[in-house]
Amino acid sequence: MMPPVHYRIDAADTRAHTYRVTLTIPKPAATQVVSLPVWIAGSYMVREFGRHLSGLQARQGRQDRPPRQLDKTTWQIDCEGSTALELRYEVYAFDTSVRTAFLSEGRGFFNNTSLCLRVHGREQGAHQVSLVGLPRGWEVATAMPALQGKARGLHWQAADYDELVDHPFELGPFWRGRFKAQGVEHEFVVAGAWPGFDGARLLRDTQRICEEHIRFWHGARGKPPFERYVFMLNTVDDGYGGLEHRASTALIAARKDLPRIGEPGLGDGYLTLLGLISHEYFHTWNVKRLKPLELCAIDHTQENYTELLWFFEGFTSYYDDLALLRCGLIDAPRYLKLLAKTATAVQSMPGRSVQSVAQASFDAWNKYYRQDENTPNATISYYTKGAQVALCLDLTLRREGRGSLDAVMRHLWALGWQRGRRRDPGNIGIAEADIAQALAAVGGRSFEPELQQWVHGTGELPVADLLPSVGIAQGREAERLSAAWGLRLNEGPVTGCIVRQVLRGSAAEAAGLCAGDEILAVQGWRVRRLDDAVQWLGPAAVADATGAAHGATHGAPARSSKARGRAQAAVAAPPLAVLVQRDQRVFELNLRPDPSATRLTTLQWTVDEGRLKADPAVEPRRQAWWRASA
Ligand SMILES: [Zn+2]
Repeated sequence: MMPPVHYRIDAADTRAHTYRVTLTIPKPAATQVVSLPVWIAGSYMVREFGRHLSGLQARQGRQDRPPRQLDKTTWQIDCEGSTALELRYEVYAFDTSVRTAFLSEGRGFFNNTSLCLRVHGREQGAHQVSLVGLPRGWEVATAMPALQGKARGLHWQAADYDELVDHPFELGPFWRGRFKAQGVEHEFVVAGAWPGFDGARLLRDTQRICEEHIRFWHGARGKPPFERYVFMLNTVDDGYGGLEHRASTALIAARKDLPRIGEPGLGDGYLTLLGLISHEYFHTWNVKRLKPLELCAIDHTQENYTELLWFFEGFTSYYDDLALLRCGLIDAPRYLKLLAKTATAVQSMPGRSVQSVAQASFDAWNKYYRQDENTPNATISYYTKGAQVALCLDLTLRREGRGSLDAVMRHLWALGWQRGRRRDPGNIGIAEADIAQALAAVGGRSFEPELQQWVHGTGELPVADLLPSVGIAQGREAERLSAAWGLRLNEGPVTGCIVRQVLRGSAAEAAGLCAGDEILAVQGWRVRRLDDAVQWLGPAAVADATGAAHGATHGAPARSSKARGRAQAAVAAPPLAVLVQRDQRVFELNLRPDPSATRLTTLQWTVDEGRLKADPAVEPRRQAWWRASA
């Protein structure tokens, strides 16, 4: 067996935001190749971590071994004999996101994909990390196992390279709390928190979420597939995001979203944070162990394509909010609001008729992760539509009386269990055929037609048809003018009214509005916010031809220009004069309000009491859907 490779990480140079790394490779290869990954699992974009690595030097004993660079992120060192090869380099770290590395006075954080060169040929062996140079008063949080048998100190060991890069480190004088969920140790560290933040409540609420998820997968007495779990939350002025790992998660959130001591109720900001915690924790099972077959062996050098993110991200999104309801942190109206928000997000993307969720998954690398003003027109989110596919499958299974999506998830988990019968089954590679097979096993029939249409097709999902089976009614909120015109805006008293996105098939598109345009006036009157114009246009300018009573409709799908023309003629609304500024020139556009054009509809979901009374099967079905896992 080869002795472990060792990384000594020096965090002393906080002012240069630079980690200094010494990598020792015992018994190097005669032609030793090393490289830094170009992406980090869970964040599907090539980020070129090598661009922040510099000053690479190598020596064997007293002998310099000049590295030869092979490409943007790979080096080769010619060695002689078995004397250990020592590499020294530095990594600039000044990114507050959860995906790379950060070092400054006050805080440090790193993913090993940013700091640890991969030693080719040694990936399967043990990798050790030692931390030195920590500023006084700083602590360390990580889920990487501490090195056994070493004198007390800052030393850790991972079984292989993939494990090494799956354990981020949080450094600093952070807040730290602990709790047990189903008997297993959980740690929560918070960096940057305000004084007066209610740490005890954060621990209590997180514990409820964790216990719900563990019971979901393993039943009342089950244990999760890890010995210990660490939440690392960095709170900032403004930010949101998370990255899942096998026994930890790195989160970023707005400081103001932390719970405060004495604060009653559960604010929307804190709810967003709890949703994020729930999402990343669910990933511990769904994407870190159950995972796309293609991602069982990660290729660190390039994009790793999969069509399955609608399952691994979308279904995780479905269960993150559902768990909040099931464990009692939110009530039914609050949950329906979250569900309706997801439905609204799908309806607000004309790209849903262009791209399927399977394609959206495959294209994550240059579409979801490279969003621009055309994103809603050309793509669909595998998060939101994936969550709606989960909802549709769940409600279909329940309506047919053949189990639930919960049972499908556990059926998939059992595949790995059968293989390993260990507490941690490791990689459970999943293909779409496995999902289809699990659906058939639970549902007692083939779900291939649904998968073809909902996952590989671009038609509308039957959400509105399924909602009555669980006693939910769908309505629509009153629209803003920008929504009726199919626009997303950035508005403010200083910036004015700037067009961010123009939806495909919208009245704004037909009028010739572009992203970046500044809307100065409507019908000769200055606007600071577009909705100001309703004051002189009247509410009729917002209402569409179908009137206020929309009932259980599905938003306005983009229609052909011919159909639009007919509807336009029927209503014959007069055009509005919209004064815009574009690239230093000011001119007027004619915008014709068009009831059949694409618009941004905000859906509203509520419990339908009449439906509950009319069909006695509805209430028990809904209760079973929302019941806590046992
Ligand atoms: Zn996710």
